Amino acid sequence: MRVSAVICAAGRGERAGFNKNKLLAPLSGAPALYHTLKAFRLPCIQQVVVACSAEDMAEITALCAPFGYDCVLGGATRTDSVSAALKACDGDIVLIHDGARPFVSREVIEGCIACAARSGSAICALPVTDTIALSEGGEIAEVPARSALFSLQTPQGFVRERIVKAYERAAGDGRTYTDDSAVYARYIGRPALCEGSRDNIKLTFKSDFAQTYPPLDTAPGQAAGIGVDVHAFGPGDHVTLCGVNIPHDRGLVAHSDGDVAVHALMDALLSAAGMEDIGHLFPDTDPAYSGANSMALLERVTGLIRSRGWAPLNASITIRAEKPRIAPHICAMKGNIASALGIDGGRVGVSAGTCEKLGFVGEGLGIECAAAVLLEKI
Ligand code: MG
Repeated sequence: MRVSAVICAAGRGERAGFNKNKLLAPLSGAPALYHTLKAFRLPCIQQVVVACSAEDMAEITALCAPFGYDCVLGGATRTDSVSAALKACDGDIVLIHDGARPFVSREVIEGCIACAARSGSAICALPVTDTIALSEGGEIAEVPARSALFSLQTPQGFVRERIVKAYERAAGDGRTYTDDSAVYARYIGRPALCEGSRDNIKLTFKSDFAQTYPPLDTAPGQAAGIGVDVHAFGPGDHVTLCGVNIPHDRGLVAHSDGDVAVHALMDALLSAAGMEDIGHLFPDTDPAYSGANSMALLERVTGLIRSRGWAPLNASITIRAEKPRIAPHICAMKGNIASALGIDGGRVGVSAGTCEKLGFVGEGLGIECAAAVLLEKI
């Protein structure tokens, strides 16, 4: 399933009073729109089309360039702009999102895609907490039951063919639509609701830009991590390092297979992604991990960091051991690690050495490993 996203950035945001497109006003050190664009850089989104005005085209095209997003010329109204952007979309599902909602989370976007795939439409919404009244002539005419009221957000997701058909029918009907759910409701059917978020605020007024908001991730898209592990020698006939079994007259004492190099590497990956270490993820008090294959755990860790939006760029591992000899096995070790991380073998380094008879490694009591990794935001 291919997913496209339309980001609406063609308005001026008159209520914000910046005398220019409010989406180009600074927020947390970058134009507000930059954060919205970044929020959609997700593995589940294959195409992003940004609708902008002729006046802002150059600036917004420059903002979109690093992300590889396309810009299209919007129209006089939101309906015209969305129509233009939809023509450039080729996904099975299209999400339509306000450029003025930079705090939209990955969870909300993924939930919207899942609901649209299931129901044909998905309108992010929140139950209303205020009491809402219908007024007539300055008086309250009616107070609808709050349990039936929702405030609608974006993204709003649709099967592309259906929303395109709705917009084709809406073109030139002389009506004004404030969002895409209204267009869909008029020409296709009742759109489905899905879960929005209180953090998914729409920047509307100038004061909104001065508020303290949930932190935006403005850091560069890379993160480094380190990990270290030690295992003592005990009874056995081999040690396992980077998934390679090396014959030896001792083994390594461990709850798992004792792959001290892979343990260091997993901690480096988790540390770089800001996650808890392997002691928390795979506790040695849990019988499930008794004798566990550390390479299988490494694949799980790689999957976990990918699910948080990170991919490994490289890995560097160093092994300290008096015995056994590591050098003959380094090539196989590098191959195992590269395939578990899904990276080229040339991006994995494994070095080994002794400790010159110093310390516990030098005395032949155990093996120590350290690992460093670099991750890239995906
Ligand atoms: Mg360990």
